Amino acid sequence: MSIIISSLLFLLFWLFVCCLLLYFRYRNDIVRLIREPVLKHPVVIFESDDWGPGPLEQEQALLQINQLLSGFQDQNGNHPVMTLGLILAEPDAEKIAAADFSQYFKRTLLDIRYQALLTAIQSGQQQGVLSLHLHGLEHYWPSSIMLGAAENENIKQWLTGNKQLMTEDLPSHMQSRWVNSVTLPSSHHNSDDIDQAITEEIKLYQQIFKIKPTTVVPPTFVWTDTVESAYAKHDFKTFITPGRQCDGRDSNGHPAANGRTFYNGEIKNDLLFLVRNDYFEPALGHKAEKTLHNIKDKTACGRPALLEMHRFNFISGATKNAQSLNELERLLKMINDHFTDIRFLSAEQLSELYRNYHQGIESDYIIRTPIKRIQFILARIKQFFKFNRYAKYSGINFVLKLI
Ligand SMILES: [Zn+2]
Repeated sequence: MSIIISSLLFLLFWLFVCCLLLYFRYRNDIVRLIREPVLKHPVVIFESDDWGPGPLEQEQALLQINQLLSGFQDQNGNHPVMTLGLILAEPDAEKIAAADFSQYFKRTLLDIRYQALLTAIQSGQQQGVLSLHLHGLEHYWPSSIMLGAAENENIKQWLTGNKQLMTEDLPSHMQSRWVNSVTLPSSHHNSDDIDQAITEEIKLYQQIFKIKPTTVVPPTFVWTDTVESAYAKHDFKTFITPGRQCDGRDSNGHPAANGRTFYNGEIKNDLLFLVRNDYFEPALGHKAEKTLHNIKDKTACGRPALLEMHRFNFISGATKNAQSLNELERLLKMINDHFTDIRFLSAEQLSELYRNYHQGIESDYIIRTPIKRIQFILARIKQFFKFNRYAKYSGINFVLKLI
């Protein structure tokens, strides 16, 4: 009997010591995930990037999306929202070629050819199914494209031989606007150039949409602290992240993480951060069933599901368009069937809720009572340590599963 008691005591002591070690190793993250606001209801937002200049099929695709989303609603009568990460301009390839590649020219969304696209966007806004993020004036840094075209035949071919000018076709590292990646590893732009570029972005966005942008999602999720501070200085309110910061491209052109992480609702320089925490790209084979499962995981943690899905799902031919719309519809039906208390919001509304929470303003969307928060915090801790080998081999994960 005493052996059993001794073994149990040893086991408890072992688990206690392991818990302490894990806490001290990861206390920064644990404290932050405890502080992260807990949502009372499931929240799903579709976050779709790269819309703007390019294929004219976007207009029809957006009309289809508007119609599809407006066919669903939550208990409050709100429709599911797709946020559009907007690009405002593309290269004017003809003018650039006419100037013998000595100067960069751009064509913006104000060009007559994009009038119908803008009408489709505005129509979606009026129906309450689209909301707008600034993705960037261009999905690249113009002088990098000009330098790249002079040195790299593929980039020159993209600029001159590609009527659609889809930035998705550029080499991945060249799609990063906020670092200079013509030569790798990338280097940083100087702060004056960044400030000037952001000023230009805001001016053009205002010309197009008659309102200042408040939410930004940096292209390819590569940005520097200088870029972030400049957006804050220009009164942006919400910054979309993938949960970590990459501030450059490494020697292979891959995004280089700098170790900084994000949790929903964190604020720095009055800029509130949201975390895109999953993908839903039907054209890449993502299925509604698996996405629903992932949404359940986020909901169990009191977190929103911010599902990244790019425009390529809807404009890469009739088959992929139909497949993507069909999968989106299936997912929405499953969401409405499974979550009777679903809440559809825009990212801006969610950001405002988090901001109000920090200011002590009550809402029906966020749980404040500590005792009610416990189960969500535990789910976050379980998820945080899910793939942690120390938590696995010490037995902590096994114990967490029993709770
Ligand atoms: Zn993009």
